[in-house]
Amino acid sequence: MESMKNYIEDAEAALLHTYNRFQVVLDKGEGVYLYDMEGKKYLDFCAGIAVFALGYGNKIYNDALKEQIDKVIHTSNYYYNIPAIEAAKKLKKISGMDRVFFTNSGAESIEGAIKAARKYAYLKDGRTDHEIIAMEHSFHGRTMGALSVTGNKKYREAFEPMIGNIRFATLNDFQSVLDQVTDKTCAILFETVQGEGGIYPATEEFMKQVKALCEERDILMILDEIQCGMGRCGEYYAWQRYGIKPDIMTSAKALGCGVPVGAFMMTEKVAAHSLTSGDHGTTYGGNPLAGAAINAVLDLFEENHIIEHVNQIGDYLANRLDELVDKYDFITERRGVKLMQGLVFDRPVGDIIGKALEKGLILINAGPNIIRFVPPLVIEEENVDKMIEILTSCLQ
Ligand SMILES: *Cc1c(COP(=O)(O)O)cnc(C)c1O
Repeated sequence: MESMKNYIEDAEAALLHTYNRFQVVLDKGEGVYLYDMEGKKYLDFCAGIAVFALGYGNKIYNDALKEQIDKVIHTSNYYYNIPAIEAAKKLKKISGMDRVFFTNSGAESIEGAIKAARKYAYLKDGRTDHEIIAMEHSFHGRTMGALSVTGNKKYREAFEPMIGNIRFATLNDFQSVLDQVTDKTCAILFETVQGEGGIYPATEEFMKQVKALCEERDILMILDEIQCGMGRCGEYYAWQRYGIKPDIMTSAKALGCGVPVGAFMMTEKVAAHSLTSGDHGTTYGGNPLAGAAINAVLDLFEENHIIEHVNQIGDYLANRLDELVDKYDFITERRGVKLMQGLVFDRPVGDIIGKALEKGLILINAGPNIIRFVPPLVIEEENVDKMIEILTSCLQ
């Protein structure tokens, strides 16, 4: 067999250089551990960027996929299929939304949400110059629409012009939102907990103020739950912690636990007055394999009481991280909700993450100075303790 080094060289010769990858070839997973092709074991606190909620190699999930593969993988959205119908019913139940559109990724879900909001406003007044307010430091994906609402110049600049009429405000600064509202505003879009931008949770006050503003002006509130949703913050969707409800929301990442699926969902009010026959589509979205993945994931969430588990283990993780904040002067803050946490350093964290990888711990950053913790939702206290032990040894 070729060596890991050879594979990495082959990768660098064949793949487009859009990632600075860590120098490992991951080959298999088991529970909360990943193994590289040389058999080295890694404790995984990244979960494929908040994707693999159930841990690797879950037999029930894997069997459900295998069974669906043997039946039929793809049919097309010209026809109905049972897995997608079941998945949509389940998603409605856990989210309280009324209608679901299945996509293949997070970015594609954002695209759909933007289109739904623009169409809703268009049907009201016939104008074609509506504006969307998004947040600084946000991240919504790499396609042109999603990039246009991503509040980070670094990702956008080389690809200008973006889609037009996007204005930026600051998360948790309601006045900054008010300052951007005009009679053309059709939507206010943000992550309930900002992920890539550095793990900033929206405050309850901000959520309620935006919600009230949206109701008063018939503006649509769109919440991006692609990273913070699916149980990670102790509810199926993080906004459910706040006693409000968005008009449109997006989901992806852990929704399929590794099978590439996403969704945007909306209330009946929006559904009845926005996208209609011929307005939107996708070839793969909601195909039988994707549907089977979502069904298996949601069934396992319920059977294994994942949400309850996250609430317990999330507090444990937060406490253990707080100990590090107390202990080290160069760690300034912990931020986050349950199993979506950030540890803020007064210096770049790249070296620490590199050292951790050498010692068999997978971590990722969220911005240069922040280590992000988005482990599989099935982690246990002993996994948290082990992570803290390895991380501490990298801080000396
Ligand atoms: C990852 C992410 C996206 C983009 O999802 P992709 O599946 O990579 O397109 C959008 N919004 C948030 C909050 C994300 O974390």
